[in-house]
Amino acid sequence: THQPSAQQHGFAWRALDDACARVLPQLFPSENFFKRREEVRRRVEACLNNADVLGNGRRLVLRVFGSSANLFGAEGADLDMCVVPAASEEDTELSSPEVCRRVGEALESAGAKNVQVRDTARVPIVLFADPQTGLDCDVSTHNPLALRNTELLRAYAKIDGRVRGMAYVIKKWAKIRGINSPSDGTLSSYGYILCVLAFLQTVPNPPILPSLQRLDLDWPNPKNPDRPPPERVPHPFDASRDVCLSFHDPDKTGSLADLREIAGRNRQSLGELLALFFRHYAWDVDYRNLVVAPRTACVLPKANKAELDCWPQNPHLAIEDPFETHYDVAHVLKYPKHQLVRKEFMRASKLIDDAAAQRVDPDLVLDY
Ligand code: ATP
Ligand code: MG
Repeated sequence: THQPSAQQHGFAWRALDDACARVLPQLFPSENFFKRREEVRRRVEACLNNADVLGNGRRLVLRVFGSSANLFGAEGADLDMCVVPAASEEDTELSSPEVCRRVGEALESAGAKNVQVRDTARVPIVLFADPQTGLDCDVSTHNPLALRNTELLRAYAKIDGRVRGMAYVIKKWAKIRGINSPSDGTLSSYGYILCVLAFLQTVPNPPILPSLQRLDLDWPNPKNPDRPPPERVPHPFDASRDVCLSFHDPDKTGSLADLREIAGRNRQSLGELLALFFRHYAWDVDYRNLVVAPRTACVLPKANKAELDCWPQNPHLAIEDPFETHYDVAHVLKYPKHQLVRKEFMRASKLIDDAAAQRVDPDLVLDY
């Protein structure tokens, strides 16, 4: 098969643009999405406080993270929530697994459906369905990094409409193709979103996104030209490490208009970017040697990472968590599931090339 010409590619990209314009309005959530979820959050929070799950009358706040708060949420998504003690200086005496078991009991007594307590997980978590709305929910008992990475994803989403557009399409595509299920050995939604961010930082020319974590160090700060280096805090589940939670938040620094202007210098359409995304992850990434790393806005050599046991030089996709830099978000992807995900990138990329060559709609890629 011959490579499609530039003109033929243009045809496929425009067809993909049309497909995105058709499907995205159905994927973006309604006003009600946030209202309904806030009602559930409040009800669950009251239930846990009534049951005194932190003990000795200590109050807790439930905070929402994941796709109900990161601007990448669609209607069917679960509601991810995390327990935070109401008074910040007030550390509960109970361990996270203990709080987790008490949360499970409180929810069970309040009539929650399908309650599953996972108190031995790295992040202890209770899964359940809200009895009034049927919404799938989870409550984790100590998850500050998830709250922070939710804020980071949200900040990226605000910079350019193409960030959300791509992430919604890719998340939906991964769900339909059956490759978005970490419990089954495929990649989480969070993993796919990190792949989209890293792509937008490194492949389009000029880049659409910067690294907000790098900008935190580089962006001029007239109020404090001699800023101290960003603070490192102890890792919440691993006392032997620390993590840096800083990033450049355009909402707090008033730089959003500048970042939008910079992103807008790239005029590539969503359709073209999707075609490049699939091609990039199908053929161009050197999986054996490189780590996808949206923290740095460039790929990192696996061989240079400090914890080599976490970053073996095998042909599996590896994604550095933006805050837990020793943690591979894609670690669940093992052979043969890695192959499966890679083959799906190839399938999508080939469909787009075929559509370009034959001038047919690449509908099979976005056939929702
Ligand atoms: P969906 O709409 O499919 O529910 P989501 O944005 O909620 O997508 P999930 O993959 O369900 O994404 O993850 C929810 C949150 O949990 C993420 O925002 C992230 O904070 C955290 N998380 C999920 N998977 C991982 C992982 N492998 N490593 C670290 N954190 C993760
Ligand atoms: Mg979720």
